[in-house]
Amino acid sequence: MTRVIIIGLDGGTLDLMDPWMDQGKLPSFSRIKEQGIYGRLRSTTPYYSAPAWVSITTGCQPGKHGIYDFFRTDTYKKNLVSSKHRKVPALWNMLTWYNKRSIIVNVPGTFPPEKIDGVMITGLLTPSPESNYTYPPDLKKDLTSDRLGTYLLEQVAVDDIPKGLTARYAPQKLAAQINELTSSHATVTMNLMKEYDWDLTMVVFRGTDDVQHLLWNRKDLILSCYQKADEYIGKMIDEYPDALFIIVSDHGFGKPKKYFYVNNALYNAGYLKTTSNPSTSINTLISIIFDKLSRIIFHVVPMQKIMRSELGRTFILSSNSGGNIDISQTLAMYHSVCSRGIRINLKEKYSYGIVETKDYENIRNQLIDFLKQLTDPEKGEPIVEQVYTAEEIYGKDAVNDPLDIIFDLKEGYGAQELLQPPEGLKAALKSKKDKLTILSPPGFYDWMGDHKPHGILFMYGPDLITHRTLDASVLDIVPTILAALDIPISKNLDGQVLSDAFQKPPVVSYKDIHASEPSLLSSSELQAIKKLRKKTIK
Ligand SMILES: [Zn+2]
Repeated sequence: MTRVIIIGLDGGTLDLMDPWMDQGKLPSFSRIKEQGIYGRLRSTTPYYSAPAWVSITTGCQPGKHGIYDFFRTDTYKKNLVSSKHRKVPALWNMLTWYNKRSIIVNVPGTFPPEKIDGVMITGLLTPSPESNYTYPPDLKKDLTSDRLGTYLLEQVAVDDIPKGLTARYAPQKLAAQINELTSSHATVTMNLMKEYDWDLTMVVFRGTDDVQHLLWNRKDLILSCYQKADEYIGKMIDEYPDALFIIVSDHGFGKPKKYFYVNNALYNAGYLKTTSNPSTSINTLISIIFDKLSRIIFHVVPMQKIMRSELGRTFILSSNSGGNIDISQTLAMYHSVCSRGIRINLKEKYSYGIVETKDYENIRNQLIDFLKQLTDPEKGEPIVEQVYTAEEIYGKDAVNDPLDIIFDLKEGYGAQELLQPPEGLKAALKSKKDKLTILSPPGFYDWMGDHKPHGILFMYGPDLITHRTLDASVLDIVPTILAALDIPISKNLDGQVLSDAFQKPPVVSYKDIHASEPSLLSSSELQAIKKLRKKTIK
């Protein structure tokens, strides 16, 4: 009877791992590469954690599962998405239908935990340590050092400023904190595997993403985080040599040479309006002063404690990227740092909207042309690789209101959501009133490293072909696992079974869409069908 272990390495990239494997620095990964499957895993568009992990765990593209960003795309405020916004079943729901048990630990976007056959501890986007983040709920009280191990909870957005300061002034401390998280999540997972029956175990190690964003120039510290994951992967392989291991990342990583300040560009072109001059707005001044005083703040102020308090949490989660954006005058704005998408301020959709429906297509086409013609003055080359409409990339029936325009940037560019002059105080005061800089090398408010579209795929197990390179998509993980577990695959899934990985390709069976899988019909159409069925029964 096959058992499956999925290990997620957030942001894991072969660009770093290949040389480290060659040098023998990641022995477990080298072993898998030699004795199993190894390759690249294509992420979603955009290639960020929220849509990508949900595609990895549902086998559906974002237009079907409805998670496009950490923050909901149907509102201007920073509202975190949750498992309730996901519109298709996840792997653990599918296993539950077939009486198979799952252990799910630290998977982004799983809060609130779902009732499954098995146990779940939710991951990134869990609101706070006070939240009920386990299923069954009683499990939470067992997450102590003398029972299953202490579970350390990562806190999205709230921890961003403290982590940024630690990266700047105590990088070693940050790497140690990250490795402590990995140890916590690995220990709890391995204890749960001993305590509960399971057919599938999934755990995501998030630290590789953090350390690469914040400390891209410190490869020694990044390596220590990969090695921590490698250590636990080795332990799990030793403990469960007969299991099918699938190790994936949600996207790759690299160093952007420049950041594209998207809202600055929209401001310069008149699409985005502000209540005061962004060069000298109070938000800009506060962020510049914070930058200048950051060393003292780091050493004197307990930032993590303040940010994690009720007040700090409310402050962070109620703020938005540009405090002085005048939404009642704005035609379009960049949604969030990870969204790679622009929202058009449509009157019919938002209470503060100003764009008439009849003008929507026209404005959207103008914006698409605007993005396409933006060039880097240094090289004279375009910044944007590709621009899509929501329908082009997610389908015309996409759920949960995707953003109106999605774009990919050329390699070497990252995107920034902040509306401010990126060059610091002097330049800010000198800058012309009506033009903001749109391109800047990574500064205080930018990440040192950022995502790239290709993550990692490693597979290991007794039934696999040895030493094979195989490139795949994040969409292929669910169908492959279902096939390995002999569970019929829903026709609603977008991925395919990675049959080439197996010595004897699994027999694949398909089934019609499950009753609890919403089809992509609109609710009015569904109502009409329900009515029709009732009539037929009569
Ligand atoms: Zn990331």
